[in-house]
Amino acid sequence: MIPDYHIHTSLCGHAGGDMEQYVEEAGKKGFKEIGFSDHVPMYWLAAECRDPGLAMDDLEFPGYVSRVLSLRESSPELSIRLGVEVDYIPGWESEAGKIISAYPFDYVIGSVHYIDGWGFDNPALIGEYSRRQLGEIYRQYFDLICGAAKSGIFDVIAHPDLVKKFGYRLSPAPVELYRRAARAFAGAGVCLEVNTAGLRVPAGEIYPSLEFLRLCRLEGVPASTGSDAHAPELVGANFSEALELLKEAGYDEVAVFSRRQRMMMKI
Ligand code: ZN
Ligand code: FE
Ligand code: FE
Ligand code: ZN
Repeated sequence: MIPDYHIHTSLCGHAGGDMEQYVEEAGKKGFKEIGFSDHVPMYWLAAECRDPGLAMDDLEFPGYVSRVLSLRESSPELSIRLGVEVDYIPGWESEAGKIISAYPFDYVIGSVHYIDGWGFDNPALIGEYSRRQLGEIYRQYFDLICGAAKSGIFDVIAHPDLVKKFGYRLSPAPVELYRRAARAFAGAGVCLEVNTAGLRVPAGEIYPSLEFLRLCRLEGVPASTGSDAHAPELVGANFSEALELLKEAGYDEVAVFSRRQRMMMKI
């Protein structure tokens, strides 16, 4: 069974359920390995500008880490990894690096959720799509994920084509952007994440698309897997489709992590 490395907790302010419930659900579904990867505090904003509905605060964060570590001790039947989802904000790499190096993470997922401060995956800000040129949005988004890879602070690039979330797509598909990203991931030695959350939003498709994933495979980019569960019942959601997509793209292994060392697991 492939691991679910992208799981949130109620600490981030927009997910439901206790950590224990996520673990229980993973056990029920037959997982051998999962990882929590809740949102890091919004380190690039002044404290008063941070939204408690988007991420935990500085004071909650050490508690998140210690709860995952103690849950690991009390759940010997399931291997529980300590991960974190960290926003990539150009210019703030050293701040992000400081937080990351302060804790014994097994892996760090880098995400792009903002284009010049616009939270393009936030349903409340969807109106901005019609005020901008879509080709430009895509170009900026892909520049940012290449930057995230090259920053060297992440092990995994999350939901690599998140910009399709609301179904705004380029036609034909931006294959050159995919190829550029795949090469940047390969050059930086990061994994890309196969994330099933795309199936639960208007995009209606796993992140990344098969075409993008194939190019990553071609460049030799390793893949990791995650549901992006924000509710316990979503642990491992649609993982059979994720496995199918990986195989269709030519993958026969996925990445697993321990203390930021990557190993490969046959699928
Ligand atoms: Zn979230
Ligand atoms: Fe994310
Ligand atoms: Fe997430
Ligand atoms: Zn996410």
